[in-house]
Amino acid sequence: MTETISVVLPVFNEEAGIKTTIDTLEKFVSKQPEHYELIFVDDGSKDRSVEIINAEVKLHDNIKIVEFSRNFGHQIAITAGLQYTSGDAVVVMDADLQDPPEVIPRMIEKWHQGYDIVYGKREKRDGETIFKKFTAAMFYRTFQKLATINMPLDTGDFRLMNRKVVNQMQRLHEHDPFVRGQVTWIGFKQTSVEYHRHERIAGETKYPLSKMIKLSLDGITSFSMKPLQLVNLFSGLPLLGGLIYLIYLIATGGFTAMTTGITLLLFSLGLIFLSLGIFGSYLGRVLDQVNNRPRFIVRNTVGFDERASSIHHLETRQQVTR
Ligand code: UDP
Ligand code: MG
Repeated sequence: MTETISVVLPVFNEEAGIKTTIDTLEKFVSKQPEHYELIFVDDGSKDRSVEIINAEVKLHDNIKIVEFSRNFGHQIAITAGLQYTSGDAVVVMDADLQDPPEVIPRMIEKWHQGYDIVYGKREKRDGETIFKKFTAAMFYRTFQKLATINMPLDTGDFRLMNRKVVNQMQRLHEHDPFVRGQVTWIGFKQTSVEYHRHERIAGETKYPLSKMIKLSLDGITSFSMKPLQLVNLFSGLPLLGGLIYLIYLIATGGFTAMTTGITLLLFSLGLIFLSLGIFGSYLGRVLDQVNNRPRFIVRNTVGFDERASSIHHLETRQQVTR
């Protein structure tokens, strides 16, 4: 029986390049031995992306779209997309062709060799600013030091997961998921294929610094308690420093300079605020989780068969089936 591969593509304001992406992918999948379904998850685009994709949904049986009611973020779009897949294996890739489709057959080959997860490892990144490359490299290395999971370096969300893994992914209900961390956490047999990450075909990055910071913080706060433990150290340091200083002052009888006091005070205040900030990051996650809101709201789906369309989201206003 022919295997089915589901490709999940999160989309946010990609009108400039989405048609090229679809054309390229359609051309690519038509030459593959497997059957492919392409699932676009529109993450609340404000441009013509949805219109363009829907025109293609009408033309191609294998193209589907899940439309969010607003922008919920890249990681949530991936999470939602996984729920709509029906393939034997699922490939997650960006909609700007930075992840080249030619890598997919190499991932499938590894899957056939018995691996459950095959992630793309970026051996080279084109068209990205030195700042982005540097901060990304720093993040992955810091993450490795802090986290309780051993996430491979320099991987994004471009990866293949088999059905077994995708089913397990659906048991995770984190409000602010860090997908690449979750996949590592799940375990199973994992391997990588190296690839050359191209420049995006059109448009600008949809990951401004603010979203990058959120992603990094979600990654760290969901997979490491170390910063929280560090807070203890922060509170211990000024206390110990203060004590030693006090002993020193008593011993030398030198209770003078108000400035010293002020410096010490500021130093301690800094640490307190830093600690509060760290607490806040974790508390925020707990609050989000406790609120227990749905992680996304689908306003419409097109192109799915009855089975996939029966995935109900309470807030789904309308589901169009073919
Ligand atoms: N994206 C999304 N929601 C967002 C931001 C980005 O679905 O809020 C999508 C975007 O359309 C693209 C992928 O996520 O398909 C990766 O984003 P982008 O290419 O902008 O990130 P970069 O490659 O610059 O890190
Ligand atoms: Mg990109």
